[in-house]
Amino acid sequence: MRLGAVADDVTGACDLAGRVVEAGLPATVLLGTPDDAPGDLFEAGAGCAVVALKVRTAPAAEAASASAAAARLLLGAGATQLYHKYCSTFDSTPAGNIGPIADALASVAGATATVGTPATPGAGRTQYQGTLFVDGVPLAESSMRDHPLTPMRDSDLVRVLSPQTPAPVGLVRWQDVRRGADAVAGMVGDGHVLVDALTEADLDVIAEAIGRIAAQRPVVAGGGAGVATALARAAASTSLGHAPATAGLPAVPLTGRLILAGSASAATRGQIAAFRGERHVLDPLDLARDPHALTPIRDALAAHTDPLAPILIHASGDVAAAQTALGAERAAALLEDALAELAAFAVHALGRSHLLVAGGETSGAVTARLGLSRLRIGAQAAPGVPWAVSSSDAGDGPRTIAVLLKSGNFGGPDLFTDAWEVSP
Ligand code: ADP
Repeated sequence: MRLGAVADDVTGACDLAGRVVEAGLPATVLLGTPDDAPGDLFEAGAGCAVVALKVRTAPAAEAASASAAAARLLLGAGATQLYHKYCSTFDSTPAGNIGPIADALASVAGATATVGTPATPGAGRTQYQGTLFVDGVPLAESSMRDHPLTPMRDSDLVRVLSPQTPAPVGLVRWQDVRRGADAVAGMVGDGHVLVDALTEADLDVIAEAIGRIAAQRPVVAGGGAGVATALARAAASTSLGHAPATAGLPAVPLTGRLILAGSASAATRGQIAAFRGERHVLDPLDLARDPHALTPIRDALAAHTDPLAPILIHASGDVAAAQTALGAERAAALLEDALAELAAFAVHALGRSHLLVAGGETSGAVTARLGLSRLRIGAQAAPGVPWAVSSSDAGDGPRTIAVLLKSGNFGGPDLFTDAWEVSP
């Protein structure tokens, strides 16, 4: 199988790709949609390519057209199954963008149905009777209730998705999933079908059902990383003598380890608190006040020459103070710019090789500044948090670096210390 996925954000793309690699299928992430598909996108014959967009909260029409362009590129490069990757907490508003993107991908694929689930049991997300649970708590009672951009106040996914699309929204309940792939495939008519899943075995049934439907007519698969992982498991088990999915990834000679944390999420805060090495704090108020605020940090980076010891630069924890004084957007932009600038200094001026970035928006800013366009996915440092090899060019020739782009809430408390053990 050549799985072509369109992801609505960059760390979600890495989450899917990391799990797919672990399941045995090689994976590449493209950051944005290039004009031409790289000829070697599916070089291993079977594999997964993910286009990472940044459209989760974009206007719906923009999200739909960017997703359609990405889907056309993937199909043109030889993808045999399209996948719509959205957040496992179904992050969306009544305007979208899960419905509009699903409609757009179905139209490009010539499909009348999309099938999937946000459920990703390995990340604590399950779907039962159409209700999404986050670590056992209904979505609308989880912390997603108060998300700043996509507050989720209803846990019933059919009710959440219906206003986002003119297509019918259907549900396959867990009792029918237990009847097996044929039963599930038989219940999929037209429209967007959400399927209950509590376990990896349920996801395997859904993946098998998608295979049965796809043998008859085009269908778009979709959801969190869970269904994609099940599709990869099925594909890897049928390719006899398949090389390990990370085979062929180049080793990256170690010249320095840098952690850039712009996320204010609970897991990242725990990782910052647990980190024991050299650290520097970035305060948006300082960045707004002092045009030379980064100079001492640049000096510290240059003076830090032990390649084995990671150095951490993180955003100040006092989000409210900065947002009150500067506004949320300006504070975030100042931090993202500063972290991207320091990444470019470390990689291009100092030649540092290994970079761990915490935060979805932060990762977008850093990869854009480094000019990274393609990630070859390696081993996971934690579920959904893979290392990748990429190449950055500041005009003096490409430089191969190892990057780990982490969604704010992923990874255990010791990630900043332990992640390096499995890095390329
Ligand atoms: P996550 O993956 O946890 O959502 P992101 O990087 O996507 O992390 O988003 C966090 C956002 O919050 C970034 O734009 C970052 O610049 C901003 N931020 C982090 N710390 C602060 C702070 N102290 N004050 C204001 N904004 C902050």
